[in-house]
Amino acid sequence: MKTIRDFDLNNKKVIIRVDFNVPIKDGVITDDTRIKESLKTINYAISNNAKVILMSHLGRIKEEGDKVKNTLKPVSVRLSELLDKEVKFIPATRGSELEDAINNLNNGDVLLMENTRFEDLPDKKESKNDPELGKYWASLGDIYINDAFGTAHRAHASNVGIASNLESGIGFLIEKELENLLPAINDPKRPFTVILGGAKVSDKIGVIENLVIKADYILIGGGMAFTFLKASGVEIGNSLLDEENVEFCKKILKEHKDKIILPIDVVTDLKECFITDITKEEKGLDIGPKTVKLFKQYLDNSKTIIWNGPVGMFEEEKYSNGTKGICEILKNIDAVKIAGGGDTASAVKNFGYEPAFTHISTGGGASLELLEGKVLPGIDIIK
Ligand code: ADP
Ligand code: MG
Repeated sequence: MKTIRDFDLNNKKVIIRVDFNVPIKDGVITDDTRIKESLKTINYAISNNAKVILMSHLGRIKEEGDKVKNTLKPVSVRLSELLDKEVKFIPATRGSELEDAINNLNNGDVLLMENTRFEDLPDKKESKNDPELGKYWASLGDIYINDAFGTAHRAHASNVGIASNLESGIGFLIEKELENLLPAINDPKRPFTVILGGAKVSDKIGVIENLVIKADYILIGGGMAFTFLKASGVEIGNSLLDEENVEFCKKILKEHKDKIILPIDVVTDLKECFITDITKEEKGLDIGPKTVKLFKQYLDNSKTIIWNGPVGMFEEEKYSNGTKGICEILKNIDAVKIAGGGDTASAVKNFGYEPAFTHISTGGGASLELLEGKVLPGIDIIK
């Protein structure tokens, strides 16, 4: 697959699809991580004398009012500070103002177009990959670079649409995600252990089905553990239950008995106890310390570890020890260690364990789909 390094960018109009979908409150960016993460690709294009045209979505545009809160204008201001360079913001997604500004760019200049999803009004041209829109946007540049991993699992006009009409490659962020995730999933050093948690089994069926085949062990915690425990005949009280997936869990447990490791103790809203001592009134909210120790035995020997889904309701301090315990174990072992999923990534970062990981995938839905073994349309089109 071509990357930005494979092109001569000199004097070329280079469209870079970045992920500037940052949280904004009252016009103020509350977390600029995504802008910072895009700098490497943008700076590379600038220093190679490209005329840089940036495109991104921001939030959803369902009605006119959404345009006020989801304008990319504040992003252009922050980006300009970070690049220490003027960023020309164009408050339009098509038309002569945009076209003229692009034609007036000098080598090394940077332009940011308004939120691609402004084209979703009235008829979802961006999100439904309207062919005319992809073609039009492609006509604005000479080369297209996709570096928005977080939307790569969607076929939109600003990724698949443009790439269908223009010479394309990937940027450094997507390259890093693929270089870390694909070998870990498809050609792991063994033992390969997966830690799965999070709220619901239904969110992770695809991940379970794909990884149960590939991994040597699957350690299950979080809310989803209780549907597996129920399937194995344990009383789970008021714990999270995914009724319609009990049969699925039974089947997985039966077919992969030696691979699936379930919690042996639990922290509920009332007490800490063995998994067999949960009463009808209580709700399991974290794995217990004995389970952390049990998981450690598997993790200590592993050479590849992929973690998706917090093992407890980590947002609450009293149910965060399981998730912190896993972080602490991983910190002390030498293996390829990958965390993926929005909440897993934020737990790991908030608890200060980012350095313990080989890679923390920032993609959310896109990372999950890679774990499911799916092809991401926004990347596949570039191949
Ligand atoms: P990710 O975003 O990393 O893929 P998920 O979205 O699947 O993870 O799951 C994260 C959510 O799961 C968190 O909000 C967490 O509170 C919740 N969770 C974890 N364990 C439990 C539990 N035992 N009961 C209820 N919710 C849980
Ligand atoms: Mg989540």
